[in-house]
Amino acid sequence: MTHAVTAPPVVTLPVEGSEDTFPVRRIWCVGRNYAAHAREMGSDPDREPPFFFQKPTDAIVQNGDPIPYPPGTGNLHYEIELVVAIGKAGLKIPAVEALDYVFGYAVGLDMTRRDLQNAAKETGRPWEMGKAFDYSAPCTAIRPASVIGHPDRGAIWLKVDGETRQESDINHLIWDVPETIAHLSELVELQPGDLIYTGTPEGVGPVVAGEVMEGHVDGVGDLTTPVTG
Ligand code: MN
Repeated sequence: MTHAVTAPPVVTLPVEGSEDTFPVRRIWCVGRNYAAHAREMGSDPDREPPFFFQKPTDAIVQNGDPIPYPPGTGNLHYEIELVVAIGKAGLKIPAVEALDYVFGYAVGLDMTRRDLQNAAKETGRPWEMGKAFDYSAPCTAIRPASVIGHPDRGAIWLKVDGETRQESDINHLIWDVPETIAHLSELVELQPGDLIYTGTPEGVGPVVAGEVMEGHVDGVGDLTTPVTG
């Protein structure tokens, strides 16, 4: 079969310790999933069920690759996040079974045009132009759960030019990984290749061209993402 226009390439991430790659199907993101971050964004973390948004699959940026400072913003923010890689399909997955659907884990950045996101919030408009733009989803290689298990605690941090900006523990997630999978799969059928960016802790802030972001989650990986002009 031929295509009428150039077909998009399959977006993949490396799988550590394997020649296989992980084909990325969709990118799901959880909003406000650490209490201290929800408060810094002006929300009450105690009264809010998890909510979700998406980024386009081709927003993925490989570990070490630079991202260009995006158009349309003067306030590009980093959000360091634990990423869950889904390995099999499931709809309405019970939380007690949810980890069976996890292929592995990675470290990702939910890059955000905060000025556009805030304008969308104020006017009740969609978040896409604040969240779902080109190069907005840097991500490390996937570490399989068959090797590292299912991390539910451990440091998560982000540094800019060597200076710590975000520092927390993934055990501070309001909705942990099984609960997040359970909630999301009540709304859509998860598929192999789906990624879930699980939300960011407090300390989000701006990054500018020329700076280098380094992110870490204990046992999961280290991400380096320079910002170019
Ligand atoms: Mn986020």
